[in-house]
Amino acid sequence: MSNDTPFVTVDKIRRRGLLFVVSSPSGAGKTTLCNRLLKTDPDLTLSVSATTRPMRPSEKDGQDYHFVSEQTFFDMQQQGQFLESAKVFGNYYGTPRAPVEEALAKGQDILFDIDWQGAQQLGETVPTDLVKVFILPPSRDELERRLKSRAQDTDDVVAMRMAKAESEISHWAEYDYAVVNYDIDEAEQLMRCILVAERLKRTRQTGLSDAVNKIIAP
Ligand code: 5GP
Repeated sequence: MSNDTPFVTVDKIRRRGLLFVVSSPSGAGKTTLCNRLLKTDPDLTLSVSATTRPMRPSEKDGQDYHFVSEQTFFDMQQQGQFLESAKVFGNYYGTPRAPVEEALAKGQDILFDIDWQGAQQLGETVPTDLVKVFILPPSRDELERRLKSRAQDTDDVVAMRMAKAESEISHWAEYDYAVVNYDIDEAEQLMRCILVAERLKRTRQTGLSDAVNKIIAP
């Protein structure tokens, strides 16, 4: 702070946490983008979903997902433990309710890496604090190239992945923002801009009137 720094009467303004939903077809760079944001933004935490899908070698239980059996998943569902849940490509996925409610109460923002079905369901249960972003690949060719480069799969497998990607992309218009991932650094910057602007929304800054009163009070 320089000597010219004015005397500050307005502390960091209180605000409600937001639910930052990110969807995309696989191959658009969503996981990399989400990981980058989570690493660098202390106000953002990941909603760790429960899933019945088998764990991949690179994954950690409790960190990437809570890996559960179908029976456990259905029990959790019956007990109302999920904020939303869906079947995606043959496996079940669900967002545990309690950690989200705790984080929001603390004014934390939560990042949801979920598909269009989950985004739609959250839109019905928590519409006010939801910010939905769709990540798009720069072109069909590039999407195909990225899907092919993931593993040495047969043409049939790649074709199936493309069909799934198309079906996810068909929901793009249900989102508030669309980010085309031409370049990963640029896309990360754009995601950050969305977060910053959404956090500054007047209606989200619950401590604003107190702060303003401190400024205008005689
Ligand atoms: P993956 O199995 O490759 O990690 O994820 C497959 C798809 O399921 C991705 O589109 C991912 O965003 C979505 N997904 C992951 N967790 C959830 C969840 O809790 N709910 C919903 N609706 N989709 C999820």
